[in-house]
Amino acid sequence: MNLNIIWEEFLKIIHEEEGSRIVETWFKSVTLSNWDPSTKNVFLKVPNSFIREWITLHYLTLLKTNLSRLFNEKDIAIVFVDQNNSNQVLEALNNDTNLKLNGQVNALSLNVINNKKSLVPLKKSNININIEYLFDNFVVGPNNSLAYSACQAVASKPGTLYNPLFIYGASGLGKTHLLHAIANAIRSKNNKLSVLYQSADRFVNEFINAIRFDKVAAFENKYKNVDVLLIDDIQFISNKEQTQEAFFHIFNALYESKKQIVFSSDSLPHDISGLAERLKSRINCGLVADIQKPSLELKIAILKKKAELHKVSLNDEVAYYIASLSSSNVRELEGLLIRLLAFSSLMHQDISIELANKILPKVTKSSTKNKVLDLHFIAKIIVKNYGFTLSELKSNKRIKSVSLVRHIAMYLMKKYCEKSLLDIGLFFNRKDHTTVIHAVEKIEQLISCDEIFSQEIQSLETKILKNR
Ligand code: ADP
Ligand code: MG
Repeated sequence: MNLNIIWEEFLKIIHEEEGSRIVETWFKSVTLSNWDPSTKNVFLKVPNSFIREWITLHYLTLLKTNLSRLFNEKDIAIVFVDQNNSNQVLEALNNDTNLKLNGQVNALSLNVINNKKSLVPLKKSNININIEYLFDNFVVGPNNSLAYSACQAVASKPGTLYNPLFIYGASGLGKTHLLHAIANAIRSKNNKLSVLYQSADRFVNEFINAIRFDKVAAFENKYKNVDVLLIDDIQFISNKEQTQEAFFHIFNALYESKKQIVFSSDSLPHDISGLAERLKSRINCGLVADIQKPSLELKIAILKKKAELHKVSLNDEVAYYIASLSSSNVRELEGLLIRLLAFSSLMHQDISIELANKILPKVTKSSTKNKVLDLHFIAKIIVKNYGFTLSELKSNKRIKSVSLVRHIAMYLMKKYCEKSLLDIGLFFNRKDHTTVIHAVEKIEQLISCDEIFSQEIQSLETKILKNR
Protein backbone atom coordinates (compact mmCIF):
# COMPACT_ATOMS: atom_id res chain seq x y z
CA MET A 1 0.00 0.00 0.00
CA ASN A 2 1.49 3.31 -1.01
CA LEU A 3 1.23 5.57 2.02
CA ASN A 4 2.26 8.66 0.09
CA ILE A 5 -0.67 8.30 -2.25
CA ILE A 6 -3.06 7.90 0.65
CA TRP A 7 -1.68 10.96 2.37
CA GLU A 8 -1.82 13.00 -0.82
CA GLU A 9 -5.43 11.99 -1.25
CA PHE A 10 -6.14 12.93 2.34
CA LEU A 11 -4.56 16.37 1.81
CA LYS A 12 -6.71 16.85 -1.25
CA ILE A 13 -9.84 16.12 0.75
CA ILE A 14 -8.84 18.52 3.51
CA HIS A 15 -7.99 21.11 0.90
CA GLU A 16 -11.47 20.84 -0.52
CA GLU A 17 -13.30 20.66 2.74
CA GLU A 18 -11.33 22.96 4.95
CA GLY A 19 -9.38 25.14 2.55
CA SER A 20 -5.79 25.40 1.46
CA ARG A 21 -4.65 27.45 4.41
CA ILE A 22 -5.46 24.66 6.86
CA VAL A 23 -3.46 22.27 4.74
CA GLU A 24 -0.53 24.68 4.54
CA THR A 25 -0.58 25.64 8.21
CA TRP A 26 -1.22 22.30 9.84
CA PHE A 27 -0.97 19.31 7.55
CA LYS A 28 1.81 20.04 5.09
CA SER A 29 4.50 19.30 7.66
CA VAL A 30 2.91 16.02 8.72
CA THR A 31 3.68 12.72 7.04
CA LEU A 32 1.95 9.40 7.11
CA SER A 33 4.81 7.24 8.22
CA ASN A 34 3.30 3.85 8.84
CA TRP A 35 0.17 1.77 8.86
CA ASP A 36 -0.27 -1.36 10.91
CA PRO A 37 -3.28 -3.33 9.67
CA SER A 38 -3.21 -5.75 12.59
CA THR A 39 -3.69 -3.05 15.23
CA LYS A 40 -5.30 -0.56 12.82
CA ASN A 41 -2.82 2.05 13.96
CA VAL A 42 -2.03 4.91 11.60
CA PHE A 43 1.30 6.53 12.42
CA LEU A 44 1.63 10.22 11.72
CA LYS A 45 4.96 11.97 11.97
CA VAL A 46 4.62 15.50 13.31
CA PRO A 47 7.32 18.17 13.54
CA ASN A 48 6.45 19.40 17.02
CA SER A 49 4.04 19.11 19.88
CA PHE A 50 2.35 22.38 19.05
CA ILE A 51 1.15 21.08 15.69
CA ARG A 52 0.25 17.73 17.23
CA GLU A 53 -1.95 19.34 19.83
CA TRP A 54 -3.66 21.67 17.45
CA ILE A 55 -4.42 18.85 15.05
CA THR A 56 -5.62 16.66 17.88
CA LEU A 57 -7.92 19.35 19.10
CA HIS A 58 -9.44 20.40 15.86
CA TYR A 59 -8.95 17.78 13.26
CA LEU A 60 -8.98 14.42 14.94
CA THR A 61 -12.46 13.52 13.75
CA LEU A 62 -11.60 14.66 10.30
CA LEU A 63 -8.40 12.59 10.31
CA LYS A 64 -10.09 9.49 11.56
CA THR A 65 -13.10 9.73 9.31
CA ASN A 66 -11.15 10.25 6.15
CA LEU A 67 -8.27 7.91 6.89
CA SER A 68 -10.78 5.21 7.83
CA ARG A 69 -12.34 5.67 4.49
CA LEU A 70 -9.01 5.65 2.66
CA PHE A 71 -7.70 2.56 4.49
CA ASN A 72 -11.08 0.96 4.25
CA GLU A 73 -11.09 0.12 7.96
CA LYS A 74 -13.63 1.13 10.56
CA ASP A 75 -11.97 1.82 13.87
CA ILE A 76 -8.55 3.14 13.21
CA ALA A 77 -6.34 4.77 15.82
CA ILE A 78 -4.05 7.68 15.21
CA VAL A 79 -0.58 7.48 16.70
CA PHE A 80 1.58 10.57 16.64
CA VAL A 81 5.30 10.12 16.28
CA ASP A 82 7.89 12.75 17.00
CA GLN A 83 9.74 13.62 13.83
CA ASN A 84 13.05 13.96 15.58
CA ASN A 85 12.84 10.55 17.08
CA SER A 86 10.75 8.38 14.89
CA ASN A 87 10.79 5.42 17.24
CA GLN A 88 9.23 7.34 20.02
CA VAL A 89 5.53 7.05 20.12
CA LEU A 90 4.24 10.21 21.67
CA GLU A 91 0.63 9.59 22.01
CA ALA A 92 -1.93 7.13 20.90
CA LEU A 93 -5.41 8.40 20.50
CA ASN A 94 -7.93 5.71 20.20
CA ASN A 95 -11.07 7.66 20.55
CA ASP A 96 -12.10 11.25 20.77
CA THR A 97 -12.98 11.15 24.43
CA ASN A 98 -9.58 9.83 25.28
CA LEU A 99 -7.71 13.02 24.57
CA LYS A 100 -4.60 13.55 26.58
CA LEU A 101 -3.45 17.04 26.08
CA ASN A 102 -0.74 17.45 28.69
CA GLY A 103 -3.01 19.79 30.58
CA GLN A 104 -2.12 22.52 28.14
CA VAL A 105 -5.45 23.13 26.68
CA ASN A 106 -7.79 25.62 28.17
CA ALA A 107 -11.53 25.59 28.32
CA LEU A 108 -11.84 27.56 25.15
CA SER A 109 -10.15 24.94 23.05
CA LEU A 110 -12.12 22.15 24.59
CA ASN A 111 -15.22 24.04 23.71
CA VAL A 112 -14.04 24.00 20.18
CA ILE A 113 -13.69 20.23 20.24
CA ASN A 114 -17.11 19.73 21.64
CA ASN A 115 -18.76 22.04 19.23
CA LYS A 116 -16.96 21.21 16.10
CA LYS A 117 -17.63 18.27 13.93
CA SER A 118 -16.04 18.58 10.59
CA LEU A 119 -17.90 15.97 8.65
CA VAL A 120 -21.33 14.53 8.65
CA PRO A 121 -21.49 10.84 9.46
CA LEU A 122 -20.66 8.93 6.36
CA LYS A 123 -23.93 8.20 4.72
CA LYS A 124 -23.34 7.23 1.17
CA SER A 125 -25.21 10.02 -0.48
CA ASN A 126 -23.76 12.92 1.47
CA ILE A 127 -20.17 11.92 1.74
CA ASN A 128 -18.96 15.18 0.25
CA ILE A 129 -20.98 17.70 2.14
CA ASN A 130 -19.53 19.83 4.85
CA ILE A 131 -22.21 20.60 7.43
CA GLU A 132 -20.43 23.72 8.55
CA TYR A 133 -21.05 25.58 5.33
CA LEU A 134 -24.48 27.08 5.92
CA PHE A 135 -26.39 30.10 4.70
CA ASP A 136 -26.54 31.20 8.32
CA ASN A 137 -22.82 31.61 8.65
CA PHE A 138 -22.23 33.15 5.25
CA VAL A 139 -21.75 36.88 5.62
CA VAL A 140 -23.60 38.83 2.98
CA GLY A 141 -22.43 42.10 1.46
CA PRO A 142 -22.78 43.94 -1.83
CA ASN A 143 -20.06 41.79 -3.37
CA ASN A 144 -21.89 38.50 -2.95
CA SER A 145 -25.55 39.29 -2.35
CA LEU A 146 -26.73 38.29 -5.82
CA ALA A 147 -25.06 34.90 -5.62
CA TYR A 148 -26.27 34.42 -2.07
CA SER A 149 -29.92 35.24 -2.86
CA ALA A 150 -29.89 33.09 -5.97
CA CYS A 151 -28.54 30.14 -3.99
CA GLN A 152 -31.16 30.63 -1.31
CA ALA A 153 -33.90 30.78 -3.90
CA VAL A 154 -32.63 27.59 -5.50
CA ALA A 155 -32.49 25.86 -2.14
CA SER A 156 -36.05 26.83 -1.32
CA LYS A 157 -37.50 25.88 -4.70
CA PRO A 158 -35.09 23.62 -6.51
CA GLY A 159 -35.58 23.27 -10.23
CA THR A 160 -38.09 26.04 -10.62
CA LEU A 161 -36.47 29.45 -10.54
CA TYR A 162 -32.95 29.67 -11.83
CA ASN A 163 -31.92 26.63 -13.72
CA PRO A 164 -29.08 26.15 -14.18
CA LEU A 165 -27.55 28.52 -11.66
CA PHE A 166 -23.97 29.47 -12.38
CA ILE A 167 -21.90 31.12 -9.64
CA TYR A 168 -18.53 32.54 -10.57
CA GLY A 169 -15.77 34.37 -8.73
CA ALA A 170 -12.10 34.21 -7.82
CA SER A 171 -10.69 31.59 -5.53
CA GLY A 172 -11.49 31.78 -1.82
CA LEU A 173 -14.58 33.97 -2.14
CA GLY A 174 -17.18 31.48 -0.97
CA LYS A 175 -18.40 29.52 -4.00
CA THR A 176 -17.91 26.11 -2.42
CA HIS A 177 -19.43 27.41 0.79
CA LEU A 178 -22.61 28.43 -1.05
CA LEU A 179 -22.90 25.13 -2.90
CA HIS A 180 -22.67 23.22 0.36
CA ALA A 181 -25.13 25.64 1.95
CA ILE A 182 -27.67 24.77 -0.75
CA ALA A 183 -27.19 21.07 -0.02
CA ASN A 184 -27.47 21.56 3.73
CA ALA A 185 -30.56 23.75 3.44
CA ILE A 186 -32.37 21.29 1.21
CA ARG A 187 -31.42 18.39 3.44
CA SER A 188 -32.64 20.08 6.56
CA LYS A 189 -35.99 20.83 4.97
CA ASN A 190 -36.66 17.94 2.72
CA ASN A 191 -35.10 14.58 3.25
CA LYS A 192 -36.74 13.12 0.21
CA LEU A 193 -34.84 15.12 -2.33
CA SER A 194 -31.50 13.67 -3.27
CA VAL A 195 -28.69 16.15 -3.55
CA LEU A 196 -25.33 15.40 -5.06
CA TYR A 197 -22.31 17.63 -4.74
CA GLN A 198 -19.24 16.88 -6.79
CA SER A 199 -16.19 18.83 -7.80
CA ALA A 200 -15.63 18.81 -11.53
CA ASP A 201 -12.18 17.29 -11.26
CA ARG A 202 -13.55 14.38 -9.28
CA PHE A 203 -16.33 14.10 -11.80
CA VAL A 204 -13.71 13.83 -14.53
CA ASN A 205 -11.78 11.17 -12.62
CA GLU A 206 -14.89 9.24 -11.92
CA PHE A 207 -15.78 9.30 -15.58
CA ILE A 208 -12.34 8.13 -16.62
CA ASN A 209 -12.58 5.23 -14.19
CA ALA A 210 -16.06 4.43 -15.41
CA ILE A 211 -14.71 4.08 -18.92
CA ARG A 212 -11.78 2.03 -17.77
CA PHE A 213 -13.93 -0.39 -15.81
CA ASP A 214 -16.77 -0.40 -18.27
CA LYS A 215 -19.19 1.25 -15.87
CA VAL A 216 -20.33 4.25 -17.86
CA ALA A 217 -24.01 3.39 -17.55
CA ALA A 218 -23.77 3.18 -13.77
CA PHE A 219 -21.87 6.45 -13.73
CA GLU A 220 -24.53 8.22 -15.77
CA ASN A 221 -27.32 6.75 -13.69
CA LYS A 222 -25.79 7.99 -10.51
CA TYR A 223 -25.94 11.54 -11.80
CA LYS A 224 -29.17 11.34 -13.73
CA ASN A 225 -31.12 10.17 -10.72
CA VAL A 226 -30.59 13.08 -8.43
CA ASP A 227 -32.92 15.97 -7.75
CA VAL A 228 -30.22 18.54 -7.25
CA LEU A 229 -26.77 18.37 -8.82
CA LEU A 230 -24.07 20.72 -7.58
CA ILE A 231 -20.90 20.78 -9.66
CA ASP A 232 -18.04 22.76 -8.17
CA ASP A 233 -15.27 24.32 -10.25
CA ILE A 234 -16.75 23.40 -13.59
CA GLN A 235 -13.76 25.00 -15.33
CA PHE A 236 -11.89 21.73 -14.69
CA ILE A 237 -14.02 20.06 -17.29
CA SER A 238 -12.64 22.27 -20.05
CA ASN A 239 -10.76 20.54 -22.85
CA LYS A 240 -12.00 17.15 -21.68
CA GLU A 241 -14.19 16.44 -24.66
CA GLN A 242 -15.38 13.00 -23.79
CA THR A 243 -16.28 13.98 -20.26
CA GLN A 244 -18.16 17.01 -21.56
CA GLU A 245 -20.10 14.78 -23.89
CA ALA A 246 -21.15 12.55 -20.99
CA PHE A 247 -21.88 15.56 -18.88
CA PHE A 248 -24.04 17.07 -21.59
CA HIS A 249 -26.25 13.99 -21.56
CA ILE A 250 -26.59 14.12 -17.82
CA PHE A 251 -27.28 17.82 -17.94
CA ASN A 252 -30.03 17.43 -20.53
CA ALA A 253 -31.69 14.59 -18.71
CA LEU A 254 -31.79 16.57 -15.49
CA TYR A 255 -32.80 19.80 -17.14
CA GLU A 256 -35.67 18.23 -19.01
CA SER A 257 -37.06 16.65 -15.89
CA LYS A 258 -36.77 20.01 -14.12
CA LYS A 259 -34.08 18.97 -11.71
CA GLN A 260 -31.88 21.70 -10.29
CA ILE A 261 -28.32 22.12 -11.53
CA VAL A 262 -25.84 24.51 -9.94
CA PHE A 263 -22.32 25.21 -11.13
CA SER A 264 -19.48 27.17 -9.69
CA SER A 265 -16.53 28.40 -11.66
CA ASP A 266 -13.58 30.74 -11.41
CA SER A 267 -14.68 32.61 -14.52
CA LEU A 268 -17.62 33.47 -16.72
CA PRO A 269 -18.93 30.68 -18.96
CA HIS A 270 -17.71 32.32 -22.10
CA ASP A 271 -14.23 32.80 -20.65
CA ILE A 272 -13.78 29.11 -19.94
CA SER A 273 -11.75 28.06 -22.89
CA GLY A 274 -12.35 24.54 -24.08
CA LEU A 275 -15.92 24.44 -22.82
CA ALA A 276 -18.26 23.22 -25.54
CA GLU A 277 -20.41 25.97 -27.06
CA ARG A 278 -23.63 24.06 -26.54
CA LEU A 279 -22.85 23.72 -22.85
CA LYS A 280 -22.10 27.42 -22.64
CA SER A 281 -25.35 28.35 -24.28
CA ARG A 282 -27.29 26.02 -21.99
CA ILE A 283 -25.63 27.65 -19.00
CA ASN A 284 -26.46 31.11 -20.27
CA CYS A 285 -30.14 30.23 -20.32
CA GLY A 286 -30.13 30.11 -16.56
CA LEU A 287 -28.86 32.70 -14.10
CA VAL A 288 -25.22 33.71 -13.99
CA ALA A 289 -24.29 35.37 -10.68
CA ASP A 290 -20.91 36.70 -9.67
CA ILE A 291 -19.06 37.02 -6.39
CA GLN A 292 -16.69 39.96 -6.18
CA LYS A 293 -13.93 40.67 -3.70
CA PRO A 294 -15.15 41.67 -0.24
CA SER A 295 -14.70 45.18 1.09
CA LEU A 296 -12.72 45.83 4.26
CA GLU A 297 -15.94 46.06 6.27
CA LEU A 298 -17.14 42.73 4.99
CA LYS A 299 -13.79 41.12 5.72
CA ILE A 300 -14.08 42.35 9.29
CA ALA A 301 -17.63 41.01 9.55
CA ILE A 302 -16.52 37.63 8.20
CA LEU A 303 -13.65 37.44 10.68
CA LYS A 304 -15.97 38.18 13.56
CA LYS A 305 -18.43 35.59 12.38
CA LYS A 306 -15.72 32.97 12.04
CA ALA A 307 -14.35 33.80 15.49
CA GLU A 308 -17.84 33.46 16.89
CA LEU A 309 -18.06 29.98 15.41
CA HIS A 310 -14.94 29.14 17.37
CA LYS A 311 -16.59 30.60 20.48
CA VAL A 312 -14.19 33.50 20.62
CA SER A 313 -15.11 37.12 20.42
CA LEU A 314 -12.82 39.25 18.37
CA ASN A 315 -12.66 42.97 19.03
CA ASP A 316 -12.86 45.50 16.23
CA GLU A 317 -9.27 46.49 16.54
CA VAL A 318 -7.88 42.99 16.07
CA ALA A 319 -10.39 42.18 13.33
CA TYR A 320 -9.35 45.34 11.51
CA TYR A 321 -5.70 44.45 11.92
CA ILE A 322 -6.16 40.98 10.40
CA ALA A 323 -8.44 42.23 7.64
CA SER A 324 -5.94 44.83 6.55
CA LEU A 325 -3.07 42.33 6.58
CA SER A 326 -4.56 39.93 4.22
CA SER A 327 -5.75 40.06 0.68
CA SER A 328 -9.34 39.72 -0.40
CA ASN A 329 -9.18 35.96 -0.35
CA VAL A 330 -11.46 34.91 2.50
CA ARG A 331 -9.73 31.56 2.79
CA GLU A 332 -6.45 33.32 3.54
CA LEU A 333 -8.16 35.60 5.98
CA GLU A 334 -9.57 32.62 7.81
CA GLY A 335 -6.13 31.01 7.87
CA LEU A 336 -4.72 34.06 9.64
CA LEU A 337 -7.51 34.00 12.19
CA ILE A 338 -7.04 30.30 12.89
CA ARG A 339 -3.36 30.81 13.38
CA LEU A 340 -4.03 33.58 15.85
CA LEU A 341 -6.60 31.51 17.77
CA ALA A 342 -4.23 28.57 17.83
CA PHE A 343 -1.37 30.50 19.32
CA SER A 344 -3.55 32.31 21.77
CA SER A 345 -5.13 29.10 22.98
CA LEU A 346 -2.02 27.00 23.24
CA MET A 347 0.19 29.68 24.73
CA HIS A 348 -2.40 31.03 27.11
CA GLN A 349 -2.19 34.52 25.74
CA ASP A 350 -5.10 36.82 25.13
CA ILE A 351 -5.98 37.66 21.58
CA SER A 352 -4.55 41.11 21.02
CA ILE A 353 -2.96 43.29 18.38
CA GLU A 354 0.43 42.59 19.97
CA LEU A 355 -0.01 38.85 19.65
CA ALA A 356 -1.33 39.22 16.10
CA ASN A 357 1.61 41.38 15.23
CA LYS A 358 4.02 38.85 16.65
CA ILE A 359 2.73 35.71 15.03
CA LEU A 360 1.00 36.64 11.80
CA PRO A 361 3.00 37.08 8.63
CA LYS A 362 3.21 40.76 7.79
CA VAL A 363 2.27 40.36 4.18
CA THR A 364 0.40 37.52 2.63
CA LYS A 365 1.43 36.40 -0.83
CA SER A 366 -1.53 37.74 -2.67
CA SER A 367 -1.58 41.07 -0.91
CA THR A 368 1.99 41.52 -2.08
CA LYS A 369 0.77 40.86 -5.53
CA ASN A 370 -2.28 43.05 -5.29
CA LYS A 371 -0.43 46.16 -4.33
CA VAL A 372 1.35 47.46 -7.36
CA LEU A 373 4.04 49.87 -6.34
CA ASP A 374 6.00 52.29 -8.40
CA LEU A 375 9.69 51.69 -9.17
CA HIS A 376 10.52 55.23 -8.06
CA PHE A 377 8.80 54.67 -4.77
CA ILE A 378 11.04 51.72 -3.95
CA ALA A 379 14.12 53.54 -5.21
CA LYS A 380 13.38 56.51 -2.95
CA ILE A 381 13.07 54.33 0.13
CA ILE A 382 16.33 52.56 -0.66
CA VAL A 383 18.23 55.76 -1.35
CA LYS A 384 17.00 57.32 1.87
CA ASN A 385 17.83 54.25 3.88
CA TYR A 386 21.40 53.90 2.64
CA GLY A 387 22.26 57.56 2.13
CA PHE A 388 23.04 57.36 -1.57
CA THR A 389 21.74 59.60 -4.31
CA LEU A 390 19.36 58.32 -6.94
CA SER A 391 21.95 58.80 -9.66
CA GLU A 392 24.49 56.79 -7.68
CA LEU A 393 21.96 54.04 -7.34
CA LYS A 394 21.28 54.06 -11.07
CA SER A 395 24.91 54.38 -12.05
CA ASN A 396 27.29 51.73 -13.27
CA LYS A 397 29.53 52.18 -10.26
CA ARG A 398 30.82 48.87 -9.12
CA ILE A 399 31.87 49.93 -5.65
CA LYS A 400 30.77 47.00 -3.56
CA SER A 401 28.41 48.84 -1.25
CA VAL A 402 26.59 50.62 -4.06
CA SER A 403 26.20 47.54 -6.14
CA LEU A 404 24.81 45.52 -3.25
CA VAL A 405 22.26 48.22 -2.51
CA ARG A 406 21.37 48.35 -6.21
CA HIS A 407 20.79 44.61 -6.12
CA ILE A 408 18.58 44.98 -3.09
CA ALA A 409 16.57 47.62 -4.91
CA MET A 410 16.13 45.36 -7.93
CA TYR A 411 15.05 42.48 -5.73
CA LEU A 412 12.44 44.56 -3.93
CA MET A 413 11.19 46.04 -7.19
CA LYS A 414 10.72 42.59 -8.60
CA LYS A 415 8.81 41.63 -5.48
CA TYR A 416 6.57 44.67 -5.08
CA CYS A 417 6.15 46.25 -8.49
CA GLU A 418 4.35 44.35 -11.16
CA LYS A 419 6.97 45.26 -13.70
CA SER A 420 8.90 43.07 -16.08
CA LEU A 421 12.55 42.37 -15.41
CA LEU A 422 13.30 44.39 -18.53
CA ASP A 423 11.43 47.43 -17.14
CA ILE A 424 13.44 47.18 -13.95
CA GLY A 425 16.62 46.88 -16.00
CA LEU A 426 15.68 49.98 -17.99
CA PHE A 427 15.03 51.91 -14.80
CA PHE A 428 18.68 51.30 -13.97
CA ASN A 429 19.73 52.26 -17.50
CA ARG A 430 20.63 48.67 -18.31
CA LYS A 431 19.86 47.45 -21.78
CA ASP A 432 18.40 44.12 -20.76
CA HIS A 433 17.16 42.11 -17.82
CA THR A 434 20.14 39.87 -17.11
CA THR A 435 21.51 42.12 -14.36
CA VAL A 436 18.14 42.04 -12.67
CA ILE A 437 17.95 38.25 -12.72
CA HIS A 438 21.44 38.07 -11.34
CA ALA A 439 20.54 40.58 -8.61
CA VAL A 440 17.39 38.77 -7.57
CA GLU A 441 19.17 35.45 -7.35
CA LYS A 442 21.98 36.92 -5.36
CA ILE A 443 19.70 38.59 -2.84
CA GLU A 444 17.55 35.47 -2.48
CA GLN A 445 20.66 33.49 -1.76
CA LEU A 446 21.91 35.99 0.81
CA ILE A 447 18.53 36.03 2.52
CA SER A 448 18.55 32.29 2.81
CA CYS A 449 21.99 32.00 4.33
CA ASP A 450 22.52 35.22 6.24
CA GLU A 451 20.17 35.86 9.13
CA ILE A 452 21.25 39.48 9.70
CA PHE A 453 20.94 40.31 6.05
CA SER A 454 17.55 38.71 5.96
CA GLN A 455 16.44 40.90 8.86
CA GLU A 456 17.69 43.95 7.07
CA ILE A 457 15.59 43.11 4.02
CA GLN A 458 12.63 42.40 6.27
CA SER A 459 12.93 45.84 7.83
CA LEU A 460 13.13 47.46 4.40
CA GLU A 461 9.99 45.60 3.42
CA THR A 462 8.25 46.86 6.52
CA LYS A 463 9.23 50.41 5.54
CA ILE A 464 7.91 49.89 2.05
CA LEU A 465 4.60 48.56 3.29
CA LYS A 466 4.20 51.24 5.92
CA ASN A 467 4.81 54.04 3.49
CA ARG A 468 2.93 52.76 0.49
P1 ADP B 1 -14.13 29.21 -3.23
O1 ADP B 1 -14.87 27.92 -3.40
O2 ADP B 1 -14.80 30.37 -3.87
O3 ADP B 1 -12.68 29.12 -3.56
P2 ADP B 1 -14.72 28.72 -0.43
O4 ADP B 1 -16.19 28.57 -0.51
O5 ADP B 1 -13.92 27.49 -0.30
O6 ADP B 1 -14.18 29.58 -1.69
O7 ADP B 1 -14.40 29.75 0.73
C1 ADP B 1 -13.17 29.78 1.40
C2 ADP B 1 -13.40 30.00 2.87
O8 ADP B 1 -13.89 31.30 3.06
C3 ADP B 1 -14.42 29.05 3.44
O9 ADP B 1 -14.00 28.65 4.72
C4 ADP B 1 -15.68 29.89 3.53
O10 ADP B 1 -16.47 29.49 4.64
C5 ADP B 1 -15.13 31.26 3.75
N1 ADP B 1 -15.97 32.34 3.19
C6 ADP B 1 -15.90 32.90 1.98
N2 ADP B 1 -16.80 33.87 1.85
C7 ADP B 1 -17.47 33.95 3.02
C8 ADP B 1 -18.54 34.77 3.51
N3 ADP B 1 -19.09 35.74 2.78
N4 ADP B 1 -18.97 34.54 4.77
C9 ADP B 1 -18.40 33.59 5.53
N5 ADP B 1 -17.41 32.80 5.13
C10 ADP B 1 -16.93 32.96 3.89
MG1 MG C 1 -14.15 26.12 -4.11
